[in-house]
Amino acid sequence: MKLLILFCGGTLVMEQDRDGVLVAPPHERAVRNLLTIEPKLSQVAELAVTYIDNIDSTNINPSHWDKIARTISEEYNKYDGFIITHGTDTMAYTSSALSFALQNIGKPVILTGSQIPGSKIETDARRNLINAVRVATHDIAGVMIVFYERIIWGTRASKVSESKLNAFQSLNWDLLGEIRIDIRFSDNHFRRHDGKLNLQTGYEQNIAVATFVPGTPTRVLLQLLESGIKGLVLRGYGSGNVGYEYLDVLREAGKQNIPVVVNTQCMEGATLMHLYDVGKKALDLGVIQGFDMGIETCVTKLMWALKHADGVDAVREIMHTNYCNEINIEGKLY
Ligand code: ASP
Repeated sequence: MKLLILFCGGTLVMEQDRDGVLVAPPHERAVRNLLTIEPKLSQVAELAVTYIDNIDSTNINPSHWDKIARTISEEYNKYDGFIITHGTDTMAYTSSALSFALQNIGKPVILTGSQIPGSKIETDARRNLINAVRVATHDIAGVMIVFYERIIWGTRASKVSESKLNAFQSLNWDLLGEIRIDIRFSDNHFRRHDGKLNLQTGYEQNIAVATFVPGTPTRVLLQLLESGIKGLVLRGYGSGNVGYEYLDVLREAGKQNIPVVVNTQCMEGATLMHLYDVGKKALDLGVIQGFDMGIETCVTKLMWALKHADGVDAVREIMHTNYCNEINIEGKLY
């Protein structure tokens, strides 16, 4: 098996400076750090490395997602799978964004990283990297995160702990697989296929995410609409409930043709906006329900939809289309 590693930096290859702060070392040393994490890795698969960037993933932006997706597309026929080494902070945004850009992918694209630098004896980098490479040699396709014991769909992952080695969780959906003594995949995983990769890059950056709390003045949200945004993710309470005082914000967004996706501030669960009057009134003003998509998926899908559709209804249609197990509507649509 031939695998291509797309190098993006992250803690995996970082070093501590004199003050003990973790920083990205110079490019060549960073790549060397990656390659020395486990010298026996080449026994599992033949590996090549290509450089995307050497950053703390806090500094990632949609141009990196475009570059990663384009690189995979250009190298698609030469490799059996792709590993993206990436910082953990924004890994779930990248995995979700790539899931939409790499339509009909017939090979595995696996993101991994570590909580502890690879140079430390207690590092989780070695284990995660080895498992990512192992998973990539199987009959599996699609974008996913391999981290600690979990294999998670790219659109269902969320970083839930800044310190646990099991840092990622699968939101509102089963794991894609588990790393035990052996590797176990769920029954519904996508398998490799020879179909044509359909590259759909492009993400609109001019969006905002707003979380209101009891007492947030309406004008704060109205000002966001005046700032030139093309879309808004509004984080409602519980099942997507929006206080009556913010209905003016939704009316204004409607007038300006700005799609508003409402998701939930809860960690788990879905929006069900017709359940309470506070949700129904917002729904009747034309907002788009996020249903069971986590914040990383709502955001990246909206960014992607805004580049591939024109107008609120076309954006709604994309948001409510299930591309890669990211949304489960099951007749709850309207
Ligand atoms: N700040 C780091 C990053 O996201 C954290 C990590 O890699 O674990 O690049």
